[in-house]
Amino acid sequence: MITGKPLLSVEQIQKKVAELALRISRDYQDRELVAVCILKGAFMFFSDIVKRIEVPLKVDFLLVSSYVKTSSSGEIKVMCNMREDIAGKDVLLIEDIADTGLTLQHLKDQLFMQNPASVRICALLNKQARRKVDVGLDYIGFDIPDEYVVGYGLDYEGRFRNLPYIAICKEKR
Ligand code: 5GP
Repeated sequence: MITGKPLLSVEQIQKKVAELALRISRDYQDRELVAVCILKGAFMFFSDIVKRIEVPLKVDFLLVSSYVKTSSSGEIKVMCNMREDIAGKDVLLIEDIADTGLTLQHLKDQLFMQNPASVRICALLNKQARRKVDVGLDYIGFDIPDEYVVGYGLDYEGRFRNLPYIAICKEKR
């Protein structure tokens, strides 16, 4: 059986989303953004944060998969790619969680091949203890311990994405 110990409440998440959006709005003043949602995990964070970013922006989506149960398969698969032409544009990748950093590094490298003006990363959660590559996160919501978390878009085998808060996922014997 799976149980969840709350880690971040709805209020904590929403406060952080507002703070991040304010910083992003200030940093990109007078620019136009392409905000890229990394699916599926970032869908809730993405929809909350873009509502609060106050610069003109376009949205795009990348469907990526690398996790099997609670550990990374190490193989990053882009199942569905972006549609926007990002040449000369400022791109902001919006991710649920940076763990090993391999997914974000892989995506960043791929995006750079399309000659954007810039690529920055905004991750709601950061598990620094498990980092394998120094991908460089520009905006971080919360540093969290090395635990598997679910909720607010994050899943365990496809479930729990609809929880409005974030919980530590434990398998109870
Ligand atoms: P990385 O490539 O940085 O190791 O992994 C990034 C992806 O792994 C995230 O987008 C997310 O889908 C998944 N992931 C990493 N840690 C967790 C976690 O604690 N919970 C969930 N649900 N997914 C995670």
